[in-house]
Amino acid sequence: MSDDPIPFNYPFVAGKELYYMAEAVFSGQIASNGAFTRRCQAELERRTGAEKVLLTHSCTAALELAALLCGVAPGHEVIMPSFTFVSTANAFVLRGATPVFVDIRPDTLNLDESLLEAAITPRTRAIVPVHYAGVACDMDAIMGIARAHGIPVIEDAAQGIEASYKGRALGTIGDLGCWSFHETKNLICGEGGALAVNDPALRERAQILWEKGTDRAAFERGEVDRYTWQDLGSSFAPSELIAGFLAAQLEEAEQITARRAATHRRYLEGLHDLEQAGKLQLPRVPADCGNNAHLFPLLLPTQEQRDALLSFLRGRGIGAVFHYIPLHDSPFARRAGYYTGPLPVTEDVSRRLARLPCYYELSPEQQQRVIDAVHAFFA
Ligand SMILES: *Cc1c(COP(=O)(O)O)cnc(C)c1O
Repeated sequence: MSDDPIPFNYPFVAGKELYYMAEAVFSGQIASNGAFTRRCQAELERRTGAEKVLLTHSCTAALELAALLCGVAPGHEVIMPSFTFVSTANAFVLRGATPVFVDIRPDTLNLDESLLEAAITPRTRAIVPVHYAGVACDMDAIMGIARAHGIPVIEDAAQGIEASYKGRALGTIGDLGCWSFHETKNLICGEGGALAVNDPALRERAQILWEKGTDRAAFERGEVDRYTWQDLGSSFAPSELIAGFLAAQLEEAEQITARRAATHRRYLEGLHDLEQAGKLQLPRVPADCGNNAHLFPLLLPTQEQRDALLSFLRGRGIGAVFHYIPLHDSPFARRAGYYTGPLPVTEDVSRRLARLPCYYELSPEQQQRVIDAVHAFFA
């Protein structure tokens, strides 16, 4: 049996990426908003059912564009989990808003919808549910509360491409949705993302902000004879080289997701006995969630066991890691005054969580070594 190191992640190349990038080069247009960008946007719209998708150079950029579109400004509050990546918060903090961190559910590790209502104030300008590990938040409950208060919902679906809630693609349920194509995600282009503009009232303005605050789209449709500065904006779009790479990944989306799902199932089956014996908790996917098998997070009974498992696995050449360091208690949040008290589930989970390698290129043999190593740790 081989004992070559098993990395935590390895970016999968579907096949035609370099071919499409070369096609972009030889087409003579390598800046943004060319044929590959339009192809990716159309394909994302087709796959997810979104009415309008704008490709961005990261999910971070999509979140920043969403914050601009919702008119988030100083004095506003934005509700989100603390158990997430920093970009969820930074996008709104950049606009001068205060993040209001809400605790998560112990099963899905998603925003606890039962705590949402109490976090809303007259200053609340947006609610940002994060679909952790590609497993949907309870969107019916969250949308119900948001609608009752007239507050827009921006889904951080960075991890949620090809995943669903009650048959609807994650990212298409809120007013806006943000996906990531960072190399650690399911579909990749190095750095990349997209914004789904689900609220029809935001569509025209989204296009303008995306095009650096100009009406370039109207110009290209021949509606105006020059394009001018119309609004706020920034450089949100990726180059055609990146869009070409992503186009190749999107062609293989089904096959990529199916293979990840098989990996997820093998972990569930291979580690089931340890959960039965009370040694660990496996990830929970509610029945109404279509899983994209983005991550495989385990919960150990204590932080000591989590740390010991990670170093045991690393000792066997297996890349296993943890996340997130909760945002509410981070150095920046403390300095900026965003800390308003403990979030017990978030803090507990972040101390006990371990992630196993889960990616396309992980072979069944390598995966069996990981499963065997976890058993060996508990033996
Ligand atoms: C990856 C990730 C992001 C950031 O995505 P980028 O494309 O790297 O900017 C934001 N939020 C969550 C929850 C993520 O997992």
